[in-house]
Amino acid sequence: MLILVANLGSTSFKYRLFRMEAGGGEVVAKGGYERVEDYGTVIDDALASLQRDGVISSPDEIDAVGFKTVLGKNLSGCVIADQSAIDALEGFAAVAPAHNPPYANGIRQFARSLPKARLVALFETAFYQWTSAASHSYAIPKAWRDIGIRRYGFHGASHKFIAERSAELCGREDVAETARRLYQDGPRQTGAKPFRVVSCHLGGSSSVTGILNGVAIGSSMGFSPQSGLPQNNRVGDLDSGAIPYAIRTLGIPFDEAERQLTKESGLLGISGISNDIRDVRAAAAAGHADAKLAIECLIHSIRHWLGAFMIELSGIDALVFTAGIGENGADIRAAVCDGLEGFGIQLDPVRNEACRAVEADIATGTSPARVLVIPANEELVLAREVFRKLSS
Ligand code: ADP
Repeated sequence: MLILVANLGSTSFKYRLFRMEAGGGEVVAKGGYERVEDYGTVIDDALASLQRDGVISSPDEIDAVGFKTVLGKNLSGCVIADQSAIDALEGFAAVAPAHNPPYANGIRQFARSLPKARLVALFETAFYQWTSAASHSYAIPKAWRDIGIRRYGFHGASHKFIAERSAELCGREDVAETARRLYQDGPRQTGAKPFRVVSCHLGGSSSVTGILNGVAIGSSMGFSPQSGLPQNNRVGDLDSGAIPYAIRTLGIPFDEAERQLTKESGLLGISGISNDIRDVRAAAAAGHADAKLAIECLIHSIRHWLGAFMIELSGIDALVFTAGIGENGADIRAAVCDGLEGFGIQLDPVRNEACRAVEADIATGTSPARVLVIPANEELVLAREVFRKLSS
């Protein structure tokens, strides 16, 4: 099955073409465009270049297109990307303004350009469908809950991959199989012994997810991708009382407050230096106090959520780091694990230092919990889920 995975940003379009079969799959082509003004033009151009390069002899050969959609109003899961998916994206356009409109447009465009292909959307919220009401409800009036305000959780494709891969690496094939089939079969009974994972996706945007037997129990991210850990330039968690206070005291309009919280906060906001942790780290090493604080805030927040999920899970079998910072930031990993030996997390400093963006177990040989680095591969997750959906 030829599956095109489409990654649509507010001004970019990237794609990977996968050839998938029951045993796995491979990337057969990839490409992308920056500064996109019209998705229709670049999508048609991408299809023409695949043909020109001999990857496909006709666009009709593409069986399916997969979209990593973020958040839908009253819709989640791995679903056929039809008009109801577009309506769900548009219903929450104001909650994910950088993501939802491009995906709604992209789905429309692909329906025109590839009328024979099946279009599938995998929502980033899908992995959290089975969280308990107590964990995903906010203490707000019913009218607010009725318009869809609750914790959703994001980075679902990435954390679901961690659920599968960590179980495989820890010899829990029963859990790995549950995680792989989750969107088709839902949670299933696994072996007697629970398998408890805390997954840290630390990248341009970051989140921590607790996973029990292959199924998410909660996320540091809530209603919007604006919440949880400090993000690169987005705020993360903030007391709701701070917004009206800042608006009144600073005399700024609501839209400006929103802009500052989405564009000038997070690592950039605290450090005043950069939204890239490499620059912030360099400044901190040179003695910049706010840069140092930005990194400390990130580490503090990761540990806060790690602790929360370890309590909810009654322990931990694997702590996993993934995405740009998680895969490369040995210093951040060491700081997160510092002093947690008594909780079963024993990092091997030499293995940790040696590990850069490769799959590795960086715990000591005798550590009760594994500490794993697992490179993110969200496009592959998309291709797999689209394949599973259309083959089931
Ligand atoms: P996104 O979340 O945007 O998909 P990535 O997962 O690629 O992004 O992560 C981007 C982040 O990874 C950036 O903040 C960058 O600073 C960080 N990163 C990349 N390389 C390193 C490194 N060597 N050390 C620490 N952080 C890194």
